[in-house]
Amino acid sequence: MKKIIKGILMMFGALTVVMGLTLQAESLESTKEEGVPKKVYMAVIIDDFGNQMAGTDAIANLPIPLTGAVIPGMPFAKEDANTLHAAGKEVIIHVPLEPINGKPNWLGPKGITTGMGEEKVKANLEDALEEIPYAVGMNNHMGSRAMQSKMIVSTMMDFANEKGFYFVDSKTYDNKIAAAIAEEKHTTYMMRDIFLDNTPTTEHAIGQLQAALKVAKEKGYAIVIGHVGPQKGPHTSAALKTMIPKLQAENVEFVTVSTLIDNLRAQ
Ligand SMILES: [Zn+2]
Repeated sequence: MKKIIKGILMMFGALTVVMGLTLQAESLESTKEEGVPKKVYMAVIIDDFGNQMAGTDAIANLPIPLTGAVIPGMPFAKEDANTLHAAGKEVIIHVPLEPINGKPNWLGPKGITTGMGEEKVKANLEDALEEIPYAVGMNNHMGSRAMQSKMIVSTMMDFANEKGFYFVDSKTYDNKIAAAIAEEKHTTYMMRDIFLDNTPTTEHAIGQLQAALKVAKEKGYAIVIGHVGPQKGPHTSAALKTMIPKLQAENVEFVTVSTLIDNLRAQ
């Protein structure tokens, strides 16, 4: 009898220990949930590569996966694409599209305008792909006018589908034409959330990255666009350099647009 009671007591003892551990584990987990912010994704796209402009090397050397958009037809399109790829960054075609306001030379020799026929638009896109190695997607350079052309947008979405590319709408002009055509054609289509450098100062770009964190916390991810170039490049790269560790401490995972799309599909 004594032996049995002792056995029961031992069992109780063991149970208390197990329960104690379980409780402890639970409280550890809840502390972790409260203390560590939810993981969110941030995809940084840097536009206007192709001219070896200010900020090119600084961006290529940032210690995060990012996506560089190269303008076809520019003197150093191929070189910049190679620089980005060699640094382990993702490369996309930054399709130069006619704006409502702006100089024609901002588009370069491979610009796509509303005066062109479908064959010419297609030919320019094919040329761009030949010129820019490693491209896996595309986004629009300017395009406030051309992004309203159903023919141009349809041709781009067909091209994206044919090549297995995604299309990121830089949203240089607020219209829903591209979104509607992409949906109709089942093109992988994403939209830019935040421009980093409409005002070319480091402080502004830092503020925009903080705004992007807010967006990411709300919807799980944010797509931000910055630029290389004499005005914006140095500020945008400096702001990213400062903010990358701060955002990572907030549990932001920097990803290329491809990885973001893969992760969203897997959810
Ligand atoms: Zn651009």
